[in-house]
Amino acid sequence: MNKIRVGIVGYGNLGKSVELGIRQNEDMELVGVFTRRDPSSIKTITPEVNVFTMDEAKQMTAQVDVMVLCGGSMSDMPVQGPEFASLFNTVDGYDTHAKIPEYFAAMNKKAAAAQKICIIASGWDPGMFSINRLYAEAILPVGDTYTFWGKGISQGHSDALRRIKGVKDAKQYTIPKEQAINAVRRGEMPELSTREKHWRECFVVLEEGADKERIEQEIKTMPNYFADYDTEVHFITEEELSKDHPGLPHGGLVIHHGRTGLDEEHHHVIEYRLALDSNPDFTANVLIAFARAAYRLNHEGVSGAKTVVDIAPAYLSGKSAEELRKSLI
Ligand code: NAP
Repeated sequence: MNKIRVGIVGYGNLGKSVELGIRQNEDMELVGVFTRRDPSSIKTITPEVNVFTMDEAKQMTAQVDVMVLCGGSMSDMPVQGPEFASLFNTVDGYDTHAKIPEYFAAMNKKAAAAQKICIIASGWDPGMFSINRLYAEAILPVGDTYTFWGKGISQGHSDALRRIKGVKDAKQYTIPKEQAINAVRRGEMPELSTREKHWRECFVVLEEGADKERIEQEIKTMPNYFADYDTEVHFITEEELSKDHPGLPHGGLVIHHGRTGLDEEHHHVIEYRLALDSNPDFTANVLIAFARAAYRLNHEGVSGAKTVVDIAPAYLSGKSAEELRKSLI
């Protein structure tokens, strides 16, 4: 069997997790990591991995079947995405929800012209949560869908804390409110404000001599990040932060409460729950499954941009259609 030859573009948390994830898929092999930094400065988790410059990728179109794009969504992907889509099949976890239509259009133009396929906005949200929202709403069109995130680390909010003057390091957990989840499960179809759905817990390490009160006030009133939430702030030591808050856990819930029957008297609850020890590991594994789909679909002549909901589930699996019919259907 020819293995699917995968490249990793960008070597941050997600890139490292893709490196590890590929090892769990027998039908894939890693060609190498592509980075903007000096390749000799990159220490990969497994030492045998090749590291190349981004420029070298252009000469390697015959060696890589799918590039997994692992740059940051804010400023890397809008540039790197279309560049790579004009040369390779790609998969990415672009997660700036509001700009997905714009990103899709840019990627579609490049991929269609190059007769490549790019699967965008994969991962868990967007990604697996999007698929589960679609299934729920298609099956139970009369009803409401709710998404709760956490308990988990929000990297964006942790970064925002670290940018405050006097903060040495910090982590922020997004936590859903049990009361709100229970009301949705009971089928009350509640109208929930931002504050009623989630709260935020911050663990902050201060610089020597920093003003605790000013920093707590600055956090709790920070627009877009904390002002609309109930926020708790704990000041802890550097040792406590690394001992008690390691890794990047995350997760969440998609709950759909639907009604059927002549008077809509029958209630149905669909729940999809993720409890992730490592957000990047899980996201990487979703991207890897979609890389398999990209490879197969492109072999069938499919090109252009797709999102996760455009891909039939069998394309994600390493098992053959016969095996799937026997073992899962
Ligand atoms: P990250 O660690 O900040 O890495 C982003 C890029 O920064 C890397 O590709 C790397 O590019 C560069 N970089 C990383 N470490 C560096 C260092 N020490 N020095 C200099 N440059 C460094 O971000 P991430 O955690 O991997 O996440 C990537 C994106 O995935 C996020 O922006 C997010 O949008 C997305 N994501 C999506 C989902 C989803 O469910 N859809 C879930 C999680 C994350 P170079 O190697 O080229 O320098």
